[in-house]
Amino acid sequence: MRIHPPHFFIFLALLSVFFFGQTSVFAVDCDAVRMKYHCPAQKHQIHLSFDDGVGSVTPKILDILKRENIKATFLILGNKIDCAKYPAGQSLELCKQRFKTLKRIKREGHDIGSHSYEHYHHSKLSPVALKDTITHSKQLLAPFFTTEPPIFRLPYGDGWFNQKDAPQVMQALHQQGFEHLGWEMTAYDWNPKFQKGDLILDNIMNQMCTGKGRNGVILYHDGVFENEHEGRLFTANNLARWIPTMRCVADFKSLTEIKKKFKRKLQK
Ligand SMILES: [Zn+2]
Repeated sequence: MRIHPPHFFIFLALLSVFFFGQTSVFAVDCDAVRMKYHCPAQKHQIHLSFDDGVGSVTPKILDILKRENIKATFLILGNKIDCAKYPAGQSLELCKQRFKTLKRIKREGHDIGSHSYEHYHHSKLSPVALKDTITHSKQLLAPFFTTEPPIFRLPYGDGWFNQKDAPQVMQALHQQGFEHLGWEMTAYDWNPKFQKGDLILDNIMNQMCTGKGRNGVILYHDGVFENEHEGRLFTANNLARWIPTMRCVADFKSLTEIKKKFKRKLQK
């Protein structure tokens, strides 16, 4: 049988996908990337973090991280994995799925911290409500914490950005033994305005490469705090395409390599 040229090229393309995996589909020209975003030749050091999960798309994000050999940090909203609060039914089944995903996050070697129990503005809470939401998340998530001290990330960064005006928030975290994990770069992936094309990638690349440049933790979202189960679809659907571009100008590091105040906890 004679192979026609177009068929031959399709055959070659399929063969390359088979041998090189999905990353080859997103091959990028790193010289063009550095030029576009004005990045220096020296690589940045970055770490990916995801807030507001566990969500329906978290397994998809874990698949991508595994393929790319990247260890990330997941800041979990306590109310998403508090399955005891659901009566039998679909909501309980979905909660059990999320709980299974939480175990997978830990099994695959990522770091896990608390994003509190409720997604409140913590500086606006009464002392009792503040203590309650932090403690509640700690009770649920304690078996999953991976670091010493355990990590906490405040919803909206409220109590971190404004710690001079609302010192009680950081005090409450420290009283519970937590250390806060902020971020150096933010994808703004929760904002529908940026959920098109490569605007979210542009946000990160511009923050990383503009001026003196930035290293450190990048804030993404795998969950949607207003929605119990659904996750950040746009982020999950595009992350695999963004990573090779980021990799042109940055090395992906583990949390403890980037933030020396956290040590990896010995697992029993
Ligand atoms: Zn959040």
